[in-house]
Amino acid sequence: METKIFDQQHIAEAAAVIANGGLVAFPTETVYGLGASALLPDAVAQVYQVKGRPSDNPLIVHVAAPTQVETYVDNLSPMAKQLMQTFWPGPLTLIFNIKPNSLPSIVTGGLPTAAFRMPDHPQTVALIQQAQQPLVGPSANTSGKPSPTSVDHVWHDLHGKIAGILEGGATRIGVESTVLDLSDPSGTPIILRPGAITKEQLEAVLERDVLLDKHLVSAGETPKAPGMKYKHYAPNTRVMMVKDADWAAATAWAQANHFKVGVLAGPEIAERVRTETAAVYQYFNDSAEAAARGLFAGLRALDESTAGLNLLLAAAFPEEGIGAAYMNRLKKAANHEYFQEK
Ligand code: AMP
Ligand code: MG
Repeated sequence: METKIFDQQHIAEAAAVIANGGLVAFPTETVYGLGASALLPDAVAQVYQVKGRPSDNPLIVHVAAPTQVETYVDNLSPMAKQLMQTFWPGPLTLIFNIKPNSLPSIVTGGLPTAAFRMPDHPQTVALIQQAQQPLVGPSANTSGKPSPTSVDHVWHDLHGKIAGILEGGATRIGVESTVLDLSDPSGTPIILRPGAITKEQLEAVLERDVLLDKHLVSAGETPKAPGMKYKHYAPNTRVMMVKDADWAAATAWAQANHFKVGVLAGPEIAERVRTETAAVYQYFNDSAEAAARGLFAGLRALDESTAGLNLLLAAAFPEEGIGAAYMNRLKKAANHEYFQEK
C-alpha cells in the first residue's frame, strides 16, 4: 500500500479515507496518533494489526467536542464537565462507564468503560469533524517503540502499512496524555498514566484529592490501565538513567568500559560531557518540559545513529510536574536502570 502525505488542504480527503475504513495517522499536541473510525470494528482491528499491539490494550476515542461524548456516556458528572471545560481540547484523557454496546468491544477491550480525549490540534479536530465519527488514536508507532513526535517517525514505522499521514509538524508536548479514570464507584478520580496535565493541576481545579494508580507508585502491582503493563518506549540500545550529580562518574565508567556512549540531556549537562561521548541529543533547554518534548525523538535519533552506540545515558529529572510523565516513560525505556557508582 502506498502511504499518502495529506497536507492542511487535503483534510477532507483524509476524512473520506477514514470514513471508508482506512487508517490515517494524525498530529496532536502530545504525539502522533494512528486514526481509524471508532465505529468500524474491521478498521480498528487493522490498527492493532499494523502496530502489533496486544488486543487486550484498549484504545482512546478521540472526539471533536465534549458533547460528542454524550452519545456514549449517560449522565456526565459535574466533575467530568468541569474537567472537560477546563482542559479540553488538551492532553487529558477521561475514562467513563459507557452505555452498554455503544462502542465496539474491540475499542474497549471488552471493558464496561472507555477512554475519551479531545486533542488540541485544529487540523485533527477538523479531521474528526469531517469523518463524522469519533476516531481511535493510539500512538502511530510500532508497539513497544518510542512514540512518534514527527511525520518522519510515523513514516519510519508505518509507511506501506497505512493509507496516509496528516501532516502537522513536530508535536508540542512530546509525551502521551494524562489518563484519568472517572469510573471508580467511590467517585475518586485516579491517574492511570501521568502526562502534561499534572496531579496538582487536577487537584487545584477539582478542589479535592486525586489518586495515583498504585502500580505507578509501587512495583509489582497490576496496572488498572491495561496498556501500562507492557514494555514501552524502548529503543534497541541499552538505556541508563543518570542523576544530576552522577554525570562525571557515569561518563568515566562508560569510557573505562569502552562503551560507545550517546547522551540525552539539556544544554547544561550536554556541554559538560560532550567531549567524553560519541553522540549527544540535546534537549532545547534545561527544563523538564523540553526533556519531555525531546525524549522520544532523542531515543529514536541515537538508536539509529551511524555512530554505532551501545549505551545511551539519559538525564533523570525530579518526578514533579511534567517531570513525572517524562520519568514514567524514561524508566520504561531504561528498564528502570540507573547509573550507580560501584
Ligand atoms: P495509547 O493508546 O497507547 O496512548 O494507550 C492508551 C492508554 O489508555 C493505555 O494505557 C490503555 O490501557 C488506557 N485505556 C484505554 N481505555 C481504557 C479503559 N477503558 N480503562 C482503563 N484504561 C484504558
Ligand atoms: Mg502508545
